[in-house]
Amino acid sequence: MGETKLRILELYSGIGGMHYAAELANVGAEVVFSVDINTSANEVYRHNFKQTNQQSRNIESLSANEINKLKPNVIMMSPPCQPFTRVGLKLDVEDSRCSSFLHLLEVLPHLETVSFVLMENVVGFETSEMRNAFTKALKSCGFYFREFLLSPVSLQIPNSRNRYYLIAKKFTNFTFGTETDIMTAFPSNSCDVNMPSVEQSTLEPYLEKSFADEELARYLLPAKTLVKYWRILDVRQRSDISSCCFTKAYTHYAEGTGSVLQHDSSESFREKFAEFEKDGNVAHLKPLQLRYFTPREIANLMGFPAQFSFPENTSLRTRYRLLGNSLNVHVVSSLLKILLE
Ligand code: SAH
Repeated sequence: MGETKLRILELYSGIGGMHYAAELANVGAEVVFSVDINTSANEVYRHNFKQTNQQSRNIESLSANEINKLKPNVIMMSPPCQPFTRVGLKLDVEDSRCSSFLHLLEVLPHLETVSFVLMENVVGFETSEMRNAFTKALKSCGFYFREFLLSPVSLQIPNSRNRYYLIAKKFTNFTFGTETDIMTAFPSNSCDVNMPSVEQSTLEPYLEKSFADEELARYLLPAKTLVKYWRILDVRQRSDISSCCFTKAYTHYAEGTGSVLQHDSSESFREKFAEFEKDGNVAHLKPLQLRYFTPREIANLMGFPAQFSFPENTSLRTRYRLLGNSLNVHVVSSLLKILLE
C-alpha cells in the first residue's frame, strides 16, 4: 500500500497481449501509455482497456522528450516481425518495417526513467543485424540483458508458439545465465514459472463448451478445403496435448497456419480417413465435423482472460489476424516476473 507502481510503456500494442501479461504477473506494474498504428487492433484494445491512454500513432513520431514526460519505468514491445521471417524475405535492417525500431534505438540513450525492457519477436531475430544493433544500444546505455527462445509448451499449455524474447535491466545484472546464452527454458532459480508437478493439459479445457448448430456451421471446414488440403491439415483431437502455432493467415491459408479440430470425438478419425482415401468421397469425413478453432479458443490457448472480447463489428477474418499477431500471455507474464522481481 502506498507503494508507487512501475509505469509501463507498451509499444506495438496490438490487441494488448503485453497488457494482459502485466496484469497477470501482478508485480505492481501498470500500462500507462500504449501505441499502435493499426486501427482495428486499437479498436479491440480500447474495447478491453477503456482506462488506458491508447494512441493510434506511428512509433516513429515518438520523441525522447515526449516519452520522458510519461515517466515510464518499463518498455514492453513486439516490433513487427516480418523483416526476420522467411516469407518476409529476411531483409532485416533494410526493411522499411524496421525503421520504427531503429528510431527507438536512437531514442533509447535519451530516456531518463526507463530501467526495464521486455521485447518479443519471431525466431530468426536472434541471428539478425537488428538484434546486434539492439543489444549494442542496450549495452551502451548500461543495460544487462538475457535472451530466450520459448514456447507455451514449457508451461504445460497445449499450443506451440516458439518465440524470441529479450529482457533487459539497467544497473544490476541477472543472477542466471550469461549474455551469450540463448535460453530455451525458464531459468530454474526464477520464482514459480517452472511447474513440473503440473501435468500437460489437453486441448479440452480450452475449447468452447457448447455450440449451437448454426454456430458450428460457421467453423466447419468447407468440403473444397478438405479435398484439396487434407494431406497437410494438422487435425487434433480434444484429448491431444498439443496444437500448432496459430498465425495471422489461419483459415485463409491451409498450410502451416494452425491446427484444426475433430469436433465430434465419438467418431474414429482413422476409419473415416481410410474410407475417404479409398474412394475419394469427402462425405466420409463429414461425421468427424472437422472445424477451425474459434477466435475465443485461440485466445484461451494464448492465455487471454475470460473477460477479453472483440467489439461486435470486428470481422472473423480480422479476429484471426489480430490473434495471430499477438502473443502468449503466460509466457510473457513469467518473463516479466523474472525481470521485475
Ligand atoms: N503484442 C501485440 C502484437 C504486436 S504485432 C499484441 O499482443 O497484439 C506488431 C504490431 O506493430 C502490429 O499491431 C502493427 O500494427 C504495429 N506496428 C508496426 N509498425 C508500427 C509503427 N511504425 N508504429 C506503430 N505501430 C506499428
